[in-house]
Formats: sequence, C-alpha cells, structure tokens
Amino acid sequence: MGGVDKSYQCLSYYPSTRSRQRKYYKKIFRHLLDQAVWNAFVLYKKNGGDLKHVAFRMKLIERLCEEGRGLPSSKIPKSIENVARLTGRHFPSLVTSTGNKKYSARKCAVCCSKTNGNGKRVRRETRFECEVCNVGLCAAPCFQIYHTQSVF
Ligand SMILES: [Zn+2]
Ligand SMILES: [Zn+2]
Repeated sequence: MGGVDKSYQCLSYYPSTRSRQRKYYKKIFRHLLDQAVWNAFVLYKKNGGDLKHVAFRMKLIERLCEEGRGLPSSKIPKSIENVARLTGRHFPSLVTSTGNKKYSARKCAVCCSKTNGNGKRVRRETRFECEVCNVGLCAAPCFQIYHTQSVF
C-alpha cells in the first residue's frame, strides 16, 4: 500500500524521529509510536475526520491528558473515541464480581447495538469486559469486532 511510503515521508517532518538517539531501542520505540499515531490518523481520516495531521496529533495529546484527568467521555468527539478504541492494547478480562453474586455480568456493547428480526434491541450479557474501553463484550466474536470495526 502506498500509505506506508507516505507515512515515512510525513513522519520525517517530526522531530521525534529526527532527533539523534544513542540508544537504538529508543529510536525503534519512537518510530513505532509515530507509526501507531500515523495508523490512528489514517483510521481517523477514514472515519470522516477533517483535522490535519499536526492538529490530529495535538488533539490526540489533549485526549490522552483528558483521559488522565478522568473527564467524562461524553465531552470527547466520537471520531477521536473511535481512534482510541481501534488502536492501543486491549485484552478481555473477567467482569469483577460485586456483592455476593456468584459472578457478575454486563451487557455486551456489540450485541446490544444490534436489533433482532422484530426490530427490538438485542440484550446479551457477558462475563467479559475491556478494562481500557470500560465496556462489556462477548469474548468471541464481539471483542474482536468492537476493536477492529469502526462501525458494527
Ligand atoms: Zn456480544
Ligand atoms: Zn478496548
């Protein structure tokens, strides 16, 4: 794909890859980081985002800062939210049990976004969740769907 070549071109404009690093692994890490940001940017564009690459990077930084401060996610534009969902490291974990129930369950975000034949919302509970996204998801196939498809 031509996209990769373009990314090398564009990334070279940013000082993080240009600065001399004695430690080669730091260099590799920075490159991977830049590549990840670039991938996120491509996805963001595909989702109809209209920010320029530099503006997008700034927005991403803002978003990461907001995450740290724990601002309500409703303030964050949906397109940026998608980028966070489709990138990064997400692993399924068991919903932590609360109270004296044998196990806890929460609604699956993917199943509950669908409607069945009668036009009613599908309700499915799952014991698995993504802690990063803070949503309940069936281990398969919903976990993968949620983190790979911008629209499901
Ligand atoms: Zn599901
Ligand atoms: Zn996730």
